[in-house]
Amino acid sequence: MGARSLYVWKQVTDMLHEFTAVLIQNEDMDAAYVVVPVDIKAVYGKGRLAVHATFDGEPYDGQVVRMGTPDYIIGVRKDIRRKIGKTFGDTVTVTILPKEERAVLLVSKCLAGAPCRYDGGDNLVPEIGALVESGQAVAVCPEVLGGLPTPRVPSERRFDGRVVSRTGEDVTEAFKSGAQRAMAICRANGCGGAILKARSPSCGKGVIYDGSFTSTRVAGNGVFAQMLLDAGIPVLTEEEWTQGKRFPCIEK
Ligand code: SF4
Repeated sequence: MGARSLYVWKQVTDMLHEFTAVLIQNEDMDAAYVVVPVDIKAVYGKGRLAVHATFDGEPYDGQVVRMGTPDYIIGVRKDIRRKIGKTFGDTVTVTILPKEERAVLLVSKCLAGAPCRYDGGDNLVPEIGALVESGQAVAVCPEVLGGLPTPRVPSERRFDGRVVSRTGEDVTEAFKSGAQRAMAICRANGCGGAILKARSPSCGKGVIYDGSFTSTRVAGNGVFAQMLLDAGIPVLTEEEWTQGKRFPCIEK
């Protein structure tokens, strides 16, 4: 089976693409690349493209080029191969996004005005919606990404970390898988910080409801917020952000 037959080219958003490819050794050197299965010039209008890429979720800023090769390629550095535990001949999942399309921030989708809240409403903060409109932020709803419908029965995260709906259904796995998908979007965009909806069982940071459905607040994080914080990605609630808190390294 040829390497190209493994390629699955998927358009995730207008400019973000994901594909599966084989790590090819560069001659007999300790160097590897993957073939990018698209005509970069036709899709992006450039013969050489500066990109934010991920290999099995591991971020890399580099270039898609033709290096005397018939196809466009992108190199996969040794330290990245080591981190993802892959070597020549192995298959990796790759995302590429033109660098200029890269969103600086990730935000809860309901804050940008999407009607994805449990009751079908939104939590629009116009300034956060404007960040998405201008391409500075990418918006995700981890609960929708986890396959949950809208509207849906509200859920809360309990002291033991499980997420349970008001009708007693354990929805922890849907919350986890949605958080993982949202995290993949965060990494694919190289987001350096997140503005998330306060007190949500997915997006809440610092304070959430306690699982008793009595409006009782406790210290804790939603499932997605916890995942971001564990990965070292700073999180602000929309309340902190509208009060003027910022990510000093990435927001001017
Ligand atoms: Fe908003 Fe997050 Fe709840 Fe989705 S999961 S509705 S983005 S708070």
